[in-house]
Amino acid sequence: MPPFLIRFSSRALRAFGLLFLVLPIAEACASEYRQPALGGPDAPALHAVAMTFDDLPYVMAPGASPQANRAAALSANAAILDTLRRHAIPVTAFVNEDKVQALGAEGPRLVQRWNEGAFVLANHGFHHFDSNTLTPVQVEREITQGEATIGPLAHQAGRTLTFFRFPYNHVGDTEAKRLALSDIVHRHGYRLAATTIDVEDYLFNDAYECAFAHARSDAMGKIERAYLDYVRVEIPYYRALDTRVMGREIPSIMLLHSNRLNAVVLPAIIDIFRKDGTRFITLEEAQADPAYAIEPRMATVYGPMWGYRWARERHIAVNGALEPEAPAWIRGYCKTN
Ligand SMILES: [Zn+2]
Repeated sequence: MPPFLIRFSSRALRAFGLLFLVLPIAEACASEYRQPALGGPDAPALHAVAMTFDDLPYVMAPGASPQANRAAALSANAAILDTLRRHAIPVTAFVNEDKVQALGAEGPRLVQRWNEGAFVLANHGFHHFDSNTLTPVQVEREITQGEATIGPLAHQAGRTLTFFRFPYNHVGDTEAKRLALSDIVHRHGYRLAATTIDVEDYLFNDAYECAFAHARSDAMGKIERAYLDYVRVEIPYYRALDTRVMGREIPSIMLLHSNRLNAVVLPAIIDIFRKDGTRFITLEEAQADPAYAIEPRMATVYGPMWGYRWARERHIAVNGALEPEAPAWIRGYCKTN
């Protein structure tokens, strides 16, 4: 199931009143961490981020033909990998086995390219399953069958699969389920991948695919600009949220998807981080920070970022309504164009 079919972000939490009141988070913390422009290549990094890509090898367009999707997957993967290599950025790539199989013989070849050097494969399940609708036994099957391609590839490279991330970041909708799923993840030798920055790229990509299908290059440019504007506000928003909740700045973990839009704008996203004084680290390095030592103990139907989970756990009031929203025209784009 494509990610945009289920609303799972922190926005959903607001509606249920799980988070409440208080200070404008960004304002409260930004001054402490506002940095001067970088002085040059040797200037010290002020922030750290681990880049992660989900739904590998590629988020296919629902209405496109298999041939068109295969061509798009090849060109998007080439563009994303080229950008990451050019900027020497490590990345962890979360794979859905069904998406590998949908690409035929090309699937494993594409995935292998994310299994080299500073690129590391990770498990995202066989299907893009929703754990809210599955039993723990079914989830365990998703995890083990999710290793069909990436397990042997990692092994051949002398690596082991370290991280698992639940689709939609759905870690368990009841406490009993959360504990059962956490136990399964650990029993299979995984660490749960954390996620701290969500830029709703799936929403923008949904609109982008629609504009692409209608050959609206003007609209595609407009969507790219709107997306980057949103990335520019969401990165500091989530960094400030985590800083406020943890009492210090911690390494961020950025969630992106392997899709048409990110293939085009990834250089600009990297530029946003670089200008912000951010260095790129591996997911393993990020999660070596003590902040990530214990998984958030919060059962939820939704998939909020870790900052919101930590806030709830620590009884720190934050006002999720202060989080900027993606523009309404992006959400409605495919319905009106
Ligand atoms: Zn996903």
